[in-house]
Order: sequence, then structure tokens, then C-alpha cells
Amino acid sequence: MSFTELAADLAALDARGLKRQRRLLQSPQSAHVRVDGREAVAFCSNDYLGLAADPRLVAAACEGAQRCGVGAGASHLILGHAASHHELEMALAEFVALPSALLFSTGYMANIGIVTALAGRNDAVFADKLNHASLNDAALLSRADFKRYAHGDLAALERLLAASKARRKLVVVDAVFSMDGDIAPVPQLLQLCERYDAWLMLDDAHGFGVLGATGGGVLQHFGVTSPRIIYMATLGKAAGVAGAFVAGNPDLIETLVQSARTYIYTTATPPLLAHALLASLNIIRSEQGRRDLLARLIARFKVGVAGLRWPLMPSDTAIQPLVIGGNAEVLRVSAALAARGVLVPAIRPPTVPAGSARLRISLSAAHTQEDVAQLVEALREVEKES
Ligand SMILES: *Cc1c(COP(=O)(O)O)cnc(C)c1O
Repeated sequence: MSFTELAADLAALDARGLKRQRRLLQSPQSAHVRVDGREAVAFCSNDYLGLAADPRLVAAACEGAQRCGVGAGASHLILGHAASHHELEMALAEFVALPSALLFSTGYMANIGIVTALAGRNDAVFADKLNHASLNDAALLSRADFKRYAHGDLAALERLLAASKARRKLVVVDAVFSMDGDIAPVPQLLQLCERYDAWLMLDDAHGFGVLGATGGGVLQHFGVTSPRIIYMATLGKAAGVAGAFVAGNPDLIETLVQSARTYIYTTATPPLLAHALLASLNIIRSEQGRRDLLARLIARFKVGVAGLRWPLMPSDTAIQPLVIGGNAEVLRVSAALAARGVLVPAIRPPTVPAGSARLRISLSAAHTQEDVAQLVEALREVEKES
């Protein structure tokens, strides 16, 4: 066995404009960063509230390290379940107004663990076509019947639910679609789940902390709740740290403790992260000004790019995708922006459907009005050139 076959595959990937490059970040994550030796304004992070480098979170993490050390040293079910993990779980459950919550090390692991613990061979998972990759992987790994419907097509979902003879039915959706920025129609999904006796699992990776009057996420945004909701959110995006949690019925949570393999067979996250997250939760709850600023930046951005040749997708969230189309073209536009000191990621297949390569512009409360003005100006210049 040699690796020349891999080298040929990599060259082919590059030729199709699909090879990914990692930039080297030399500063904390923020609106203004140092990357590959240059200063730039960045619209690439999911740090929607600008908390990833907040000094209060840094102080809480340091204090957590002083008190608890650095490593958890064991899995949760052995001796890695720290008092701060427990305190954070209770605070998260209260914050999203659900009875019980469980922490996972990452959102990817949470999705794998939840779906595989709840669905198996005689069950069915119903999924929006644009769901996050981790939810698709979870459904495949579960061995349940995996039914995908066209993005947002509730009639198609209803047909699938009506025809299903599965023992358990689990409808799984991104609450905010990660590459499109639109919000799932949660009340209507809930109605369908009630009519066909299904569970509704919501992945609120991009809504938690941002949507709703106090950042409570998609459930607060719509003012809905239900005992059949399985709510999952990540803590590495708006919350600015790392990890994820699931919240819902206490028997659901206890079932996950007993059987979610990505919860059981892994070392608990460092408790110092739970300390930082408790500080983050306080800021999310109390600093409404961050969400207000973000809303103003989104509005300003939308007005600014309205006349461009590239269509902006219909999104009211911090994720504002401009569709460029081809892979080579999106790379060219992204590179031209980078040359002007403006970083915006080029998102290509298979992350998004072929022909819909896009700039995924993400705004953050760390940005200023001037940053957004600079982005809009750079986009106008690049459009003229191309
Ligand atoms: C980022 C993301 C995840 C994965 O979360 P991590 O904590 O980064 O592993 C899961 N679902 C969605 C929709 C995401 O955007």
C-alpha cells in the first residue's frame, strides 16, 4: 500500500476548486484578527455575541483551572462529573425553560449520542435535507429508517410521517440552518409531531444565545414548548466557549445518561469550561445590548448589499449568505476580499448543494458599524472587478 492514490485524489479535489485550506489564526477569535501574519476584519466565526475572548470568561476559566485543575480525568459516569458541570446543567435547563439538561463535549457528539440512543432498527428519523452533517451522520449510525425531505417542505414531511409504520418517529431539524440562516417553522413542525405522535429534536446551534427576548433560543423566539421537544444547542458558538447540551423530559435525559455512547465513552470536558460557561450564561441573560447591536448590524448589512448582483439568501439571523454560484468564482471573490483585509469564508459542496457555493457572512456583536461598512464597500469593489 502506498499513498500515491491519495495524492492523486487530493490533486483532483484541488482541480475542482474543492480543496480546503486552513488559515493560521494568530490572535483570539474576534471581529479583528491576525491571520497568516496580517491584520484583517473577519466575518467567519460563529461567535455571534462576541464572547469568545471576553475577559470575564477568561477570568472564570482561569479561576476554574485554579480550583479544579485542567483535566476532568475521567468520564462522567466514573468520576469526571464535576460540581460545576452539574451546576451548569441546572442553569442551562432553567435558561431554556425545560425540566432537565445534559452536557456533551461537542455538538457533533451530542447529535450522534442523542439520535443513536433514541432511534434504532425499527424506528424512523425524518430530516430536513439541509440539516447539519452531524445530524445526518447520527441518523445513518442509528440504523433507523432515514427519511429526508426537501428543505422546509412540511407537506412532504407530513406524507412521510403519515406513511410510516415505525415504532418510534423522530423528526430532526436545524432550528437555524447553518449555511442558509433561515429559521425552521417550529410551531408547524410541532403540530405535525403531535398529529403523528413523533418526537421533535431541534438543533439550535445558531439560535441559542441569539434568538428570543433574553437569548433563550428558538423556543423563546416562537414562545412554544412541548413535552415532546428534544432541545439541543451548542456552547461553542454564541456562548463563546465549547461543548453542547440537550434539554427536555427528565426520563429522556436519564436515558441519555444510561445509553448515549458519546456521553459514556469519553472523558468529561474540563470543568474549567463549565466555569467559563456559567459566566457566559450570565452575560447572555443580562446584556441585551449585544443582541440589539447584532440586529442593527444585520439590518445595515442587508441594506448595504441589496443592489449587488449576487443574491442574498432570505435570512434574518446573523448568518447572511451571498450566493455566488460556482466553486472557482466563490474562491476568487473570497480571495479578492481577503486581499482587501476582509475575511469571509467560501462555502462549497458538499457543505452546500452544487452550484450554490456562497460567501457565508456571519455577523457578531463584536463588529462595529464601521466593520460592516468596510465589508459592504469591499463587496461592491470586488463585484465591479469580476
Ligand atoms: C456547529 C454545529 C454543530 C456541531 O457543534 P460543535 O459543538 O461545533 O461540534 C451541530 N449542529 C449544527 C447545526 C451546527 O452548526
